[in-house]
Amino acid sequence: MKRRIPTRIYLAEDEMPDAWYNLRADMPTKPAPMLHPQTFKPITEEDLRAILSAEAARQELDEESRFVPIPEGILDFYRAFRPSPLIRAYYLEKALDTPAEIYYKFEGTNTSGSHKLNSAGPQAFYAREEGLSSLATETGAGQWGSAMAMACGFYGLDLSVYMVKVSSEQKPYRKALMESYGARVIPSPSDTTEAGRRILAANPDSGGSLGCAISEAMEASRRSDKCRYVLGSVLNHVMLHQSVIGLEAKAALDKYGLRPDIVIGCAGGGSNLGGLIAPFVAERLAGKSAARFIAVEPASCPTLTRGRYAYDFGDTAGTTPLMMMRTLGAGFMPAPGHAGGLRYHGMNPVLSKLHNDGLLEARAEPQLAVFDAATRFMKCEGILPAPESAHAIKAAIDEALECRRSGEKKTILFGLSGTGYFDMTAYTAYNSGAMTDKALSDEDLEKGFASIPAVSGD
Ligand SMILES: *Cc1c(COP(=O)(O)O)cnc(C)c1O
Repeated sequence: MKRRIPTRIYLAEDEMPDAWYNLRADMPTKPAPMLHPQTFKPITEEDLRAILSAEAARQELDEESRFVPIPEGILDFYRAFRPSPLIRAYYLEKALDTPAEIYYKFEGTNTSGSHKLNSAGPQAFYAREEGLSSLATETGAGQWGSAMAMACGFYGLDLSVYMVKVSSEQKPYRKALMESYGARVIPSPSDTTEAGRRILAANPDSGGSLGCAISEAMEASRRSDKCRYVLGSVLNHVMLHQSVIGLEAKAALDKYGLRPDIVIGCAGGGSNLGGLIAPFVAERLAGKSAARFIAVEPASCPTLTRGRYAYDFGDTAGTTPLMMMRTLGAGFMPAPGHAGGLRYHGMNPVLSKLHNDGLLEARAEPQLAVFDAATRFMKCEGILPAPESAHAIKAAIDEALECRRSGEKKTILFGLSGTGYFDMTAYTAYNSGAMTDKALSDEDLEKGFASIPAVSGD
């Protein structure tokens, strides 16, 4: 008997995964090792412990454990906002008149408004378990800072957030949200760090960048041995924590015997995409599925589609370890008119490797088309998507329309990584017609590439 698949497929609390899945353990060839920023030798756990909590450092380099148990203290945090719903996009399917079945995993049901809370919780938990008292981080659009502020509020840690200055001016309510949870928010570049003062001296009106805010947060975290740095994307332990998205999505689909033919996610540093696809990539690697995987990025920050595959730093000051990844160069900055988020210059090393090995497809979308897709989606599905998430919506719509042309009944799964309540400046620009698409020239890209260090890795 064929059961009607419900619009929202919920898992029960006791069906939540109790271990994260580590895709690296199943990769036939591993990503190249992370390198020490001064010696260019493969980085050790001890090196990383100077920057990150000990457990984050251990997880970062762990390529062997397929599953990493989620401690009870983190499951307890997760239960406040998970499991998240898997939603069948019946209304969107109807509007598109497509034979495809579309599902999306919705990570915007918590107050921070995105999937980032899935890693903020674990990172704060481990810091507290290890006796640390404070954390420092950066935030661009503000979602990561909000998630960290919530996690530090919950676990009782002090938090300093270096927030890209233009963003703190454009999104005063993000700042207020973080402060309400008890965090200290410092617009970056600031005069509180050496890195910030250097940039201000060169350009007193600098609006800041993610790379600069990372340098400031890392410097601030080094001032006390009770403080560590936390990052919300790009790194392998972040992607490990985000596997909870894919594991839950798979458990919900399995209840109805469903298997996705295509899995789609937006990609900034790669954590929500990597977490969503991980268990499905495992099935493909094991020869149990022929699913396709698609990363969607902004045309104005086209890391996978136009970047180099090279060792690069994660920040402008060159203080982070070097990662072998797709990169536009730490000196790359998207054009000022870019409103869709996903502005990081690099990409998680595992995803970069999957892309290089032909397992992960990538496409870059111009922002007007992305906002068109967002408004089309919200009118039928009701949810106001984050501009970042709307990149995945755009590709899901395109794939569903392709099914209409071909008559194929594919199962499409995409990640709706968050909500857009704090992004109304961007929506206002779109609604008023002020938003434009600006082509990114090869010359623009060359400027960023010039900042990639010459490191061969052997
Ligand atoms: C931060 C963010 C992203 C991009 O980060 P990834 O690490 O690539 O997932 C995407 N969507 C939302 C809603 C975000 O907040």
